[in-house]
Amino acid sequence: MPSATPRPLPDSLVALRELALNLHWTWSHASDVLWRRIDDELWQRTENPWALLQNVPQSRLEKLAEDAAFAGELRHAIDEHRSYLQEAGWYARQPEQDLGTVAYFSMEFGLSEAVSLYAGGLGVLAGDFLKTASDLGLPVVGVGLLYQEGYFRQIIDAGGRQTEAYPNNEPASLPIQPALGADGEWLKVGLRLPGRTLFLRVWQANVGRVRLYLLDSNDIRNGAADRGITAQLYGGGAEMRLLQEIVLGVGGLAMLEALGVEPTVCHLNEGHAALVTLERARRFMRRAGTSFWEAWWATRAGNVFTTHTPVAAGFDAFPPSLVYKYSRDYVGDFAIPPRELLALGRRDPRDDDEPFNMVHLALRGCAQTNAVSALHGEVSRHLFGPLYPRWPTREVPLRHVTNGVHVPSWDSVWSDRLWTTCCGKERWRGELDVLPESIAAADDETLWALATTQRRDLVDYARERLAWHLGQRGESPALVAEAAQVLDPNILTLGLARRFAGYKRPNLLLHDADRLARLLCDAQRPVQLIVAGKAHPQDEQGKRLIHAWIEFMRRPGVRMRAVFLEDYDMALAQRLVQGVDVWINTPQPPWEACGTSGMKVLVNGGLNLSVLDGWWAEAYDPACGWGIESAAGRDDAGADAADADCLYRILEREVVPDFYDRDARGVPRRWVARMRASMSRLAPRFSSNRMLREYLQRFYRVAAAALRRRTDDGARLARDLRAWQTAVEARWHEVRLGDVEAKREEGAWRLSVPVYLGGLTPDMVRVEAYADPAPEREGACEPMRCGDAIPGSVHGYLYEARVPDARPAADYTPRIRPWHAEAFLPAELALITWQR
Ligand SMILES: *Cc1c(COP(=O)(O)O)cnc(C)c1O
Repeated sequence: MPSATPRPLPDSLVALRELALNLHWTWSHASDVLWRRIDDELWQRTENPWALLQNVPQSRLEKLAEDAAFAGELRHAIDEHRSYLQEAGWYARQPEQDLGTVAYFSMEFGLSEAVSLYAGGLGVLAGDFLKTASDLGLPVVGVGLLYQEGYFRQIIDAGGRQTEAYPNNEPASLPIQPALGADGEWLKVGLRLPGRTLFLRVWQANVGRVRLYLLDSNDIRNGAADRGITAQLYGGGAEMRLLQEIVLGVGGLAMLEALGVEPTVCHLNEGHAALVTLERARRFMRRAGTSFWEAWWATRAGNVFTTHTPVAAGFDAFPPSLVYKYSRDYVGDFAIPPRELLALGRRDPRDDDEPFNMVHLALRGCAQTNAVSALHGEVSRHLFGPLYPRWPTREVPLRHVTNGVHVPSWDSVWSDRLWTTCCGKERWRGELDVLPESIAAADDETLWALATTQRRDLVDYARERLAWHLGQRGESPALVAEAAQVLDPNILTLGLARRFAGYKRPNLLLHDADRLARLLCDAQRPVQLIVAGKAHPQDEQGKRLIHAWIEFMRRPGVRMRAVFLEDYDMALAQRLVQGVDVWINTPQPPWEACGTSGMKVLVNGGLNLSVLDGWWAEAYDPACGWGIESAAGRDDAGADAADADCLYRILEREVVPDFYDRDARGVPRRWVARMRASMSRLAPRFSSNRMLREYLQRFYRVAAAALRRRTDDGARLARDLRAWQTAVEARWHEVRLGDVEAKREEGAWRLSVPVYLGGLTPDMVRVEAYADPAPEREGACEPMRCGDAIPGSVHGYLYEARVPDARPAADYTPRIRPWHAEAFLPAELALITWQR
């Protein structure tokens, strides 16, 4: 082993190594009893079996090696693990398995606190994605970076202010291993940078049946500055970010090739991975002997881009000089002018000052793009409209796949038990159709007992965690002891945890502190609140919001009813979503692209009270939870006050009364009815199982098939497509539409329009009669048939269509667009001409 040598284990315990080095334990929990038996304290503190094995005293291991009961437990756990790895899986049972391999590129992966390579929701999604691919047996590999430091850890000082710590990700303690090359040696890949070669070490994390490969630049051959490229997630300035993105995209593909993995689909999780598109084309042109643009057409079909950011300011954009510097060694291979390369990242290709935007590159380099919720789809089509000039916003080529969560990573032991009874052990590994009905059959008493038990666990955990943190900062024994008294397992419990970023409005609930205090301290129907979240180290405003919460929680009446738990991370998130009665989320629409934290409470019977933004805008149903129709957009100045008022009103008039309205048997029937509706209708729908199958069916299969057609036979189709594009672009200015004529004919309009194609032929274009949607009328887009040639013209034809006369003929505008049955349009060629 090339890294710090792991300690040898007694022979009868070697299977522990196999268990510890597969992150399957983050969701299967079959081996938890073992880790607890080995060293309960280390397990509680680290939740990292690999680190535990490196740190437990040797005498302890030797003792366990003699322990027959332990040997039995180990055998049971390893059998279960191996049978999971060997089972065929849902994908293998599908009629078609011709997908090839999907490579999933992401700057962040949130798999567990034991491998902390994430900052927030984007990374947690990527982690959930890989776990689900493993459960379904989908052929996926993950590609990411191994940071020497994960994202910062939050410490709250005695004054209630956030400070930061950056502990090291010590590779020897991480449940990962060096990836080996074909020669059996630790795999390292070289990457060309200006004036030097950067050596990247390759690590492998096992995520059930899926492999995640991680690159890091901390190789001894690199210069000191280069060794720090993968030092910190989102650390450093623009140049550092660009370098990290080069490592991810360019280094990532080089690594896959060295591993012998040839992806059919490259899935870019956010624009950070956009350089994959250029590098994939560069590798293809060398292999197939095509031009750069032919290779671009060939490989683009296999690229899928998921955008996560609803604001343009959130996109990575680099100064042209920086991009010139780092592309210098590559443009020679591309054999295109550098300016053409830079144009791929610009909205306006002629503007030499425009920065190079990674999201623009991703949109141009991927045949298919999606947003992460229905609402985010709409927002993104507006945002990216300028890249498709003169196209109606609703036709901007961007669909959506609403995010989902990997349910087995977020359910509690109690809810796991209940769901297993109702729906079986395999419930999240295949079809979901039968789940709603099966879980809905659970009776009221059982559901209420679930909520009660989970709430008790959360209160215990919150007390312990609070006491531990107070101890860490050296508070007095009296204060530490008081932590054991906070909260109450019988009180309605609200949870609120998120990044303290402005648009998330983490302090909306604190808008009227007195009103909130009255709610919490009501003598008959009290409420308690758990808050958590980090502010970005440079975000002073966010830090002030945290401080405001902590100040509020120091009020005498409130201190027993409300706690701030520091250092929000996945481990804390799990506990919170397992124990709260209500999860509160109050972003300012439309800036929550999707949001996933609220989805994590569904399986556990927690209810959502949220602003109708992101996923909740499509999930909300009064039977399942509560929604706040935000005033943002209507009345921006007063929006916070209006939204806060709405939030308080729902709590005071609906949430609290429903929770405390008990029948003779002590069960709040209306509350439980909501739990049942939310669990059965929403948990399956917002699972990552549904999400991955959507990607497979709507994106990956299409991508893999198109890639194959384009690359077969010496990339003949890709060359044809490039030739078609060139011809269309050269002659597009010659295309013209004459005046439209409308005649009424038995319930229809007959539209006809003369079309002059100049140097193009009818098979290269499509003419359509387009009508915008109007109140109570859907939009329409009717193809027009090419009819008679217009005498005396060159490529002039009369185009015709019959359209319903339910709307005026004047609603229809003829338009002409390039057409090729094999192209993704308008994603791959966005020309369009309208009749004026
Ligand atoms: C799920 C999760 C997120 C994402 O939460 P949203 O607020 O919904 O974006 C962020 N951080 C952690 C630790 C999580 O577990």
